[in-house]
Amino acid sequence: MILLRDELEERERRELAPYASRSSESRGRRQPEPEHPYRSAFQRDRERVIHSTAFRRLQYKTQVFVNNEGDYYRTRLTHTIEASQIARTVARALRLNEDLAETIALAHDLGHTPFGHAGQDALAELMREHGGFEHNIQSLRIVDLLERRYAKFRGLNLTHEVREGIWKRRSPDDERAQALGFDKKLAPSLEAQIADCADSLAYDHHDVDDALKSGVIGESDLKGVELWQMALAAADERIAGAGAGADSDPRVRRREAIRFLIDLQVTDLVSTTRRRLEEGRIESPDDVRKATRPLVGLSPEVDARKHEFQEFLFKKVYRHYRMMRMAEKAKRFLSALFLEYVAHPQALPEEYQEWVHREGVHRGVCDYIAGMTDRYAQREYEKLFHPFETT
Ligand code: MG
Repeated sequence: MILLRDELEERERRELAPYASRSSESRGRRQPEPEHPYRSAFQRDRERVIHSTAFRRLQYKTQVFVNNEGDYYRTRLTHTIEASQIARTVARALRLNEDLAETIALAHDLGHTPFGHAGQDALAELMREHGGFEHNIQSLRIVDLLERRYAKFRGLNLTHEVREGIWKRRSPDDERAQALGFDKKLAPSLEAQIADCADSLAYDHHDVDDALKSGVIGESDLKGVELWQMALAAADERIAGAGAGADSDPRVRRREAIRFLIDLQVTDLVSTTRRRLEEGRIESPDDVRKATRPLVGLSPEVDARKHEFQEFLFKKVYRHYRMMRMAEKAKRFLSALFLEYVAHPQALPEEYQEWVHREGVHRGVCDYIAGMTDRYAQREYEKLFHPFETT
């Protein structure tokens, strides 16, 4: 017996909380399409994201450590998978729409440039006089315009709720709301708020793990970070509790500490959010939209510790000289690529020559570079600037 879409929708109506987003109540797609016989609208969106070109390219885009530093480190793709796992867990625990939270999380970094934030900074600077560049807006550009998989329309034609979840992550001063079909005054759905929190919860922990593994920081650097000390104490307790056969390898201790931290924050996020929903008498998705402060979030105590932890990461990891050296190098050669293509658009692949014709040279080149993986950008640089490189 097949489980049909209307039964799935019925299940959502029955089992989800009254303030959850329901796929049957979606505001729909920009291009009307018939519904799928046995997949819900958000489920279908998730699958469209996973099958997209931009999603596959996340595999070779830098999160913090560049791809050629080693195979252990998170890439944009594994970061995305970790964030979507957390989003799903939180959404399920709160009886919210797991498919929607997961889809927004899977799509949240699609617009990231090669070489992480260095690439974003470079393109933002280069595009300053030409409409700007912001990776969340770029994610939307990808799902609305740049993906080409369907005969009838450009983009992935995702539902309003997923597109809005991607857009709501952009800087608050962005003025393009109306043009994109969003209401700037309304708060994001709970599922979108969850995807946002899951992103930061995921990167805090995997970045500290990667930084320790790489030797950019050592355990002793974390001495003053309260949250980390709590986590180590919990890890030691677990190791002691495992008895004589305990695996006391320092790497296992570190992983137990990180496991504790994720669990602590996810649990705090679930219980704090539940409390805020009760206190705010939130009873429908409309109440969520009208709320004037975020409903999904950590308690003040855990939030303060998380901030201290993030400050540490910012100073000791993201600003480490090895990171800065790579970031400056990436900015330099992405800028060189950009300026060369803007000056000589005839050196672009044919598809992008057409795109430049349609979108203007700066925007077209920006789309091309933003879509590159780290190594594709490196190869392009070699082809353009190394005298004896074959093209
Ligand atoms: Mg992210």
